[in-house]
Amino acid sequence: MKALRYLNPGVLKTDEIDSPRCGAGEALVRVHAAGICGSDMAIFAGKHPRARPPLIMGHEFAGEIVELVAGDAGTELAVGDRVTAYPLLMCGKCWACRNGVSHVCRDLKLIGIDRDGAFAEYVNVPLELLVKFPDRFSFDQGALIEPLAVGVHALDMAGTPDWQNAAVVGCGPIGLLVAFCLQQAGVRNLLISDIAPQRLERAAGLGIPVLDSARDDLADRVIRMSGGEGADIVFECAGSASAALQTSDLVRPRGKIIMVSVHKEPHPVDLRAITFKEISIIGTRVYTPADYEMALQMLPNLPYQDIISHRVDLDHGADGFDIMGQAADACKVIINTDT
Ligand SMILES: [Zn+2]
Ligand SMILES: [Zn+2]
Repeated sequence: MKALRYLNPGVLKTDEIDSPRCGAGEALVRVHAAGICGSDMAIFAGKHPRARPPLIMGHEFAGEIVELVAGDAGTELAVGDRVTAYPLLMCGKCWACRNGVSHVCRDLKLIGIDRDGAFAEYVNVPLELLVKFPDRFSFDQGALIEPLAVGVHALDMAGTPDWQNAAVVGCGPIGLLVAFCLQQAGVRNLLISDIAPQRLERAAGLGIPVLDSARDDLADRVIRMSGGEGADIVFECAGSASAALQTSDLVRPRGKIIMVSVHKEPHPVDLRAITFKEISIIGTRVYTPADYEMALQMLPNLPYQDIISHRVDLDHGADGFDIMGQAADACKVIINTDT
């Protein structure tokens, strides 16, 4: 099969390699669409703590089951089903695994990071991780269930949406999807910020109020939008040091800061402001199976055509990474593996 492989930091190559074999309790999935994620960019840059070359990345994907070997547990899945994967591999033994929050497993691993993923014609997936979706959804839509579930999880971790106003810092794919979830939850007093005008244009096209924080004062606008007090809730989706530090200026007393982006370094936060305003900072990581179900329910409303900015085929998979890293208008870049 054809596969895009990470061979060294900065080196990706599309090669012809052996297709994976399907063992008991596994399915072979013919991949049709797979999204490039921020964590794939970190692997490509050689900055991911676990990923080791040679590796086929890709954990947000959709395809069709072409072969299946039911294990002792049996399965309701069948050849021909459209599926995506809940790509988390847990240890099953640690405190998190024993207490119903295995998505924060002490030894959490992912398909496409710790074992081969979906930037290939075929991927091998344990049956219990496959999530079937209806044929009426396209594979592009199916590939967006994973990042959408990140947004769903962020809102779930935020608790009851009784807030009147919310700010989203960072207008990448995850920021956009968090804002979409807020729209779906009925939060009307909403603002998303970024320093890249092209990203903001995309958000504005989705009906989300935007602020260019390179030109305008974000804190000032958020304070004004919330009647002088600060937002009820702030979602940090930028992953930058400046964004982390500023969040406490944006939120009102007793407000919440939801950390959605993965900070690669221990960035400072203003602990004095956190104390004085009794702010809650809530960490969020990936998603639970319930978040996947919710994402699937929300899929019909998702303006996925506007979230996907670029498509490349497997032969040009490396170009997809260049686009993600360099194109000012990049949002979700999809590798379509059957073109
Ligand atoms: Zn991802
Ligand atoms: Zn565990």
